[in-house]
Amino acid sequence: MKVIDRPGQLLIGGRWIDPTTGTWFDTINPFTGKAWGTVARAGIADVERAVSAAHEAFHAAKWRGITASARGALLVRLGELIAANAVELARIESQDNGKLIAEMSAQLGYIPEWFRYFGGLADKIEGRVLPIDKPSTFAYTREEPLGVIGVITPWNSPLLLAAWKLAPALAAGNTIVWKPSEFSSASALAFGQLFEEAGFPPGVVNIVTGFGNEIGDALVDHRQISKVAFTGGDATGQRIYQRAAEQIKPVTLELGGKSANIVFSDSNLDHALNGVISGIFAATGQTCIAGSRALVQRDVYEGFVTRLVDFARQARLGDPLDPQTQVGPVTTEQQLRKILDYIDIGRAEGARCVLGGARPVRPECGDGWFVEPTIFTDVAPSMRIAQEEIFGPVLSVIPFEDEEDAVRIANGTMFGLAAGIWTSNIRRALTLPTRLEAGTVWVNTYRAVSYLAPFGGYKRSGLGRESGQAAIHEYLQTKTVWIDTSETFGNPFIIR
Ligand code: NAD
Repeated sequence: MKVIDRPGQLLIGGRWIDPTTGTWFDTINPFTGKAWGTVARAGIADVERAVSAAHEAFHAAKWRGITASARGALLVRLGELIAANAVELARIESQDNGKLIAEMSAQLGYIPEWFRYFGGLADKIEGRVLPIDKPSTFAYTREEPLGVIGVITPWNSPLLLAAWKLAPALAAGNTIVWKPSEFSSASALAFGQLFEEAGFPPGVVNIVTGFGNEIGDALVDHRQISKVAFTGGDATGQRIYQRAAEQIKPVTLELGGKSANIVFSDSNLDHALNGVISGIFAATGQTCIAGSRALVQRDVYEGFVTRLVDFARQARLGDPLDPQTQVGPVTTEQQLRKILDYIDIGRAEGARCVLGGARPVRPECGDGWFVEPTIFTDVAPSMRIAQEEIFGPVLSVIPFEDEEDAVRIANGTMFGLAAGIWTSNIRRALTLPTRLEAGTVWVNTYRAVSYLAPFGGYKRSGLGRESGQAAIHEYLQTKTVWIDTSETFGNPFIIR
């Protein structure tokens, strides 16, 4: 597999081509702050070309005419190729977005499962014969693909979040135009080389790299895009939803979160400690499911905070390509500034910064875009640092009295992506998940995902679900077919 050892190109209609704009941009390694590759800066004409290629491929016999089993086999083959190239793809991702090689290797090792699973589902999509209540009538349903899917992904887990969309969408028989984040396009371009090798017909998957504010609207608005599948920020998601509404175009939106990790005093506090750390400092807090609010029961609050601070203080910052590193840089310079601004906001609001709160000055961090693991106490639930998504290694710790209090605080934001509960009480473990407004609730674990488990947001955290059997239906539409076999035709002026 060739990495971007040349200026990146666009994958359109099965060919690698230069952008019509004739321009490229640098992709930066967040650990060094220096460019390490060049990515094509697609323009609106390139979006047009990519959508046309995907539209043509959707109707071509090479794709439309193959059996569902053959389509599934292509996905399984793609999964095998990803597995064979996982080490290289993980290294590219780590270099491009600064996330730990250990984390990206785990993700890349797991991504093939989405292609195997949805490849297996491709020929289990069934219509139904309806026991229709009309004489001499045969009626059945078909589950049909939507057409061309516009896939738009963020920088934090570039290939994993793309796989969550590509695998079910392709299994359902759609074709794709994929716009990866401008901050993490390199792995998409490397991954793009595997589609041809897996045997996908040209044009089934097209990749346009470039800036969201330059080509995003053109992709979303295109009449031949049948659906937009998006993961990213709240404001972008809202804009996409509004524009898609102009054409009554369906969307899947996976947006942000402000997830509560709720620690009860009856829990195994060692596990809870690890869970809270994993929730906010893994991936440098740059994950939509970050447990950015730790709700800790009052009677263990002081001791728990002391242990939390001690644990987080010892986290090893450094080169994300070093397998020993525990906290890497953040992905973009804008993100670094945004996180530091939120730390200032927290202080100004009266929260107490008990750990971190600045850019580290340490030799192992070099010129990288690092933020010290940061913990705030004395946080009131209404403060901005407890309400808004920071997307960095900043934890707000909030005490609570009892279950009622915990539920009220946990549900008291506009988000609803995930929540964690730490308890040894079986009644609580069974009843509390039903009261939390979140698409995923983890009890005595955190940050677990699977191709088998539906994932998505309540409230402002999104629309639709990814992974699990139901996800394939996000990319299908139901057609009902009526066949009348009667010899006569009734009164044409009344409903049949
Ligand atoms: P972002 O919204 O800035 O960008 C996401 C993608 O949208 C990028 O590819 C970008 O180029 C594109 N984009 C930007 N403007 C666009 C426009 N006008 N039209 C169409 N596309 C446009 O988000 P980000 O900063 O890359 O990612 C971080 C955000 O993603 C966080 O808020 C995080 O919570 C969220 N996220 C959510 C999940 C989830 O599954 N819920 C997972 C990961 C990240």
